[in-house]
Amino acid sequence: MVAAILRDIGARVTCAEFVAAIESYLARELTAETAAEADTHRRSCGACAGYLRRYEATIDAARSAFEDEELETELPDELAEAILSRRPKR
Ligand SMILES: [Zn+2]
Repeated sequence: MVAAILRDIGARVTCAEFVAAIESYLARELTAETAAEADTHRRSCGACAGYLRRYEATIDAARSAFEDEELETELPDELAEAILSRRPKR
């Protein structure tokens, strides 16, 4: 796990490590210590701060697209019938 790797390193988080851990970071899955180190890196590194912003924006966009799709939870009748008619008859 990335979080475990970061924990082992202990001291400084590099850009590569920050990017690798970004998912766990956003999911709040890092230990408090590792999250604090990631925060420190983000504050001191414009590239990673920008990357984090774009990453979050992408997730938000994906999430809202998914929510829109969930509005249609029922199968259209024609599709349901097509699926049912393909089932082997006994
Ligand atoms: Zn960085």
